[in-house]
Amino acid sequence: MKSERIWNFSSGPTCIPLPVLKKAQADLLNYKGTGMSVLELSHRGKPFKEIWNNVREGFKKYLNIPETHKVMLIQDDASMQFAAIPMNFLAGKSVANYLITGHWSEACIEDAEVYCKVNKVCPSPPKPICSITPLEKWHVDPKGAYLHYCSNETGDGIMLYDFPYEVLPENMPLICDMSSDLGSRQIDISKFGVIYAGVQKNFGCPGVTVLIIRKDLLDKSTVLPITPSAYNYPLIQESDNEMYNTPVTWSCYITELCLDYMNEQGIKYYENLSIERSKLLYDFIDNSQGYYISRVDPKFRSRNNVIFHLSKGEEITKKFIEESELEGFSGLQGFKTIGGIRASIYNAMPIEGVHKLIEFMKKFMNENK
Ligand SMILES: *Cc1c(COP(=O)(O)O)cnc(C)c1O
Repeated sequence: MKSERIWNFSSGPTCIPLPVLKKAQADLLNYKGTGMSVLELSHRGKPFKEIWNNVREGFKKYLNIPETHKVMLIQDDASMQFAAIPMNFLAGKSVANYLITGHWSEACIEDAEVYCKVNKVCPSPPKPICSITPLEKWHVDPKGAYLHYCSNETGDGIMLYDFPYEVLPENMPLICDMSSDLGSRQIDISKFGVIYAGVQKNFGCPGVTVLIIRKDLLDKSTVLPITPSAYNYPLIQESDNEMYNTPVTWSCYITELCLDYMNEQGIKYYENLSIERSKLLYDFIDNSQGYYISRVDPKFRSRNNVIFHLSKGEEITKKFIEESELEGFSGLQGFKTIGGIRASIYNAMPIEGVHKLIEFMKKFMNENK
């Protein structure tokens, strides 16, 4: 039993800014004088429509989304996109390019292969994955409908800061799973055909996946006929207020509050915070005389998922996790296939949480030499 809030380093769902939770609490029983909770609002009524529109406008402002692109809110988990992407964007072609950089970019291939031939841009890297396969070894099939990649591998702790656009054949859309880094750094949206992200990492609680789609890629005539209507993106576009069926209203509402909160500072602020937080941790790890080790190539170390191991082995790692939970931390257990420790530090994690974690790591190291 905890009587206070703790430092939540979970990979997602994860912490939400306290002012957002307090606002949601205050609004819970009677939202803006409607006499009901957001949980009870009709999705076709005016109060919810306002939330729905504010979320899309909030994303446009926060991410600086150009007029060429659309923001869509889909009620599902990001994993559903692994199938929905080929269904919607094969554009009559039978091949698609997939870059493998870790767990998530590899996981989505299984679903894609049901709908098209997958060209792996590079061979699967040896496990554990610690770096990104050098460009010389990439092969992009020019007949591919698109190139799909994941900009931040949440499980492996690998971030591809900038996609090497020069490998992309002209007119081939770039599609990116940005579930765990969208909103934590500035990106040039115009370079992308489609970006998708579940909101439960940087923008709130599970339920909604945000899609940012270049408008000309929404083509009804090339959506695969087997596509369920609820995943047919051009069809959703044509629906009243671009809402095909009942959205996850609560998740939309929390995302609205998070976007309002983050738009007060803007994305540059959160990018700097993300750089600062991760640097503190990696510097501490690198200076721990080998007690803690990061195996990830420093060129590709994730700012959002800092993964490290204790050189003393598994028993001590278990002890680290148990003690961290007693000391007011949560979610530090490493990813299932990687082990070790993973500190996920998304937008809502204050820098103070990272200072506290480092203090704990220092203390643990001294007590368990
Ligand atoms: C969390 C995550 C997913 C899966 O999200 P779900 O909403 O659980 O389906 C996919 N890709 C990346 C990069 C993630 O971090």
